[in-house]
Amino acid sequence: MTSKTKVYHVDPASPDDKIIREAARTLRQGGTVAFPTETVYGLGANALDQDAVSRIFEAKGRPSDNPLIVHISDSAQLDSFTAPCGELVQLLMDRFWPGPLTIVLPLKRASVSEHVTAGLDTVAVRMPAHPVALALITAAGCPVAAPSANSSGRPSPTEAAHVLDDLNGRIDAVIDGGSAGVGLESTVVEVEAGGIVRILRPGGITAEALRAAGAQVEYDIAAAPHDNGQERTPGSVELGAHEHPAAGIAPRSPGMKYAHYAPRGVMQLVQGGIDEVAAYIGKQSRNARAEGERTGVLAFHEHADRFDADHVLVIGSLGNLERAAQGLYAALRSFDDLGVSRIWAETCPEAGIGHALMNRLAKAAAQQIIRV
Ligand code: AMP
Ligand code: MG
Repeated sequence: MTSKTKVYHVDPASPDDKIIREAARTLRQGGTVAFPTETVYGLGANALDQDAVSRIFEAKGRPSDNPLIVHISDSAQLDSFTAPCGELVQLLMDRFWPGPLTIVLPLKRASVSEHVTAGLDTVAVRMPAHPVALALITAAGCPVAAPSANSSGRPSPTEAAHVLDDLNGRIDAVIDGGSAGVGLESTVVEVEAGGIVRILRPGGITAEALRAAGAQVEYDIAAAPHDNGQERTPGSVELGAHEHPAAGIAPRSPGMKYAHYAPRGVMQLVQGGIDEVAAYIGKQSRNARAEGERTGVLAFHEHADRFDADHVLVIGSLGNLERAAQGLYAALRSFDDLGVSRIWAETCPEAGIGHALMNRLAKAAAQQIIRV
């Protein structure tokens, strides 16, 4: 549609009705609108409109084999595009919706645009817990396909300014409702026979929360925790750059095969005792600087003064990983703004939201984890 992106400002807790109606009209007319959710900013289009959905792929430069999540504001909308769901799926919806849980469901044929599902016979659905997102979807009166509102490959946007940095002039509108909530994308799950809930992508709803709801949790290959309590060999580089942890085995969530969420600089994770981690990063960064690289460290507050680099960015405290998760993508974008070409990052324990945080750190680092 237009080449100028309209920016609306709303109170996130109680968005102006007139603005929501105007943005909803843009969606109904086949346009693209970015909006805040409780995970990250999404880029929405009418999921039933093939041309509208293809505009999302064009704006983002997203590979066409990576399906989109369909967002709804009312469970009744499911009837039009998914097959009836079982008891466990219903339980998950009752317990976690609205919220950052995406459930992969069997698709009703000839319903949503086939661009949404990338030709799969399943569709990923969630009901977001953000007043702006819910109001927009309700006003649009259609299911809204919405991936994260970033250029493909860039860190997901947690502020409207990030959306504009990537997509200004490429989308019709953005609703600025302040910072997104969790700061990481939703948890994607598939419910299998035998009561198994398989996590395809870790996110805002933790494995612990799913277990507490009575689910038997298993992990897809691309979503398994890195630290399974196995012995690690110090000094080993676990994986080559751009290699998937299970090369040859396709993840069940097509998007997980891409090395995205990445800053422009080359990034590595360094895992071990803090003395060893600080010594390793100090040496590497001195060498890199001598070669003319601009260096950066992504650190936790507790250890920030142990690092020596051109830019040491703190994402939060090891004592509050929820807050750290909120700051991850903004920090990765800052490294880009600062022109940092080599980045080393600390790791964190993989309990609770730490699992999703480590998953995104490892993706940003193209799975390069150095154990010292
Ligand atoms: P994004 O919208 O950028 O947060 O990414 C959506 C994620 O959900 C990607 O990893 C997709 O591959 C995944 N996804 C979407 N639809 C399906 C589906 N039908 N089956 C499995 N994964 C899906
Ligand atoms: Mg995304």
